[in-house]
Amino acid sequence: MRCPCLVGVPYLELVHQLPYCPLCGSRIDLVVPGLCGSCGAAHYRNARPTAGALVVSGDKVLLVRRAIDPWKGHWDIPGGFCNGDELPAHAIRREIQEEIGLDIDITGLLGMWLDTYELDGSTFDTLNCYFLVDPGPDPIVHLDVSENIEARWFTASELPIGDIAFPKHQREILTTWAKQSGSQVV
Ligand SMILES: [Zn+2]
Repeated sequence: MRCPCLVGVPYLELVHQLPYCPLCGSRIDLVVPGLCGSCGAAHYRNARPTAGALVVSGDKVLLVRRAIDPWKGHWDIPGGFCNGDELPAHAIRREIQEEIGLDIDITGLLGMWLDTYELDGSTFDTLNCYFLVDPGPDPIVHLDVSENIEARWFTASELPIGDIAFPKHQREILTTWAKQSGSQVV
């Protein structure tokens, strides 16, 4: 539910705008980063960290199909938001256990990508950290169907690249993985 004080503010501008100072409560309509004109507090523009995993078994990677918005019904790389006191490497172990019931070993960091996240009328920056992970031999997925309706293993040539959630960064991630695996995305 969108706050009534933000009516008329275009979604994408919310990435940059702070209508009220969270410290003194003054109406400031600040374009961040900047200072509150009332109390002088500095306000920054920080991306929220997320962690995602390329769960790789043999020549295949595991994708899940989202049960919830945003991008409901689209294929997604499993993962989620980090808690405030949680490193991305810890968040991804927790998320993979919660979402698909697998215990994983992290084998490498694929990279970090920026994007924006839009839900219920708010938009914010995300810093998305993607790990390569090993689910061990013969992994058996136990799907949390409240988050995802399906899980499937894909080779690089089978990737549903036209039906990917968060395509602004996730297409590039899957292409990067495919290239590192010596394969081409069709
Ligand atoms: Zn202030």
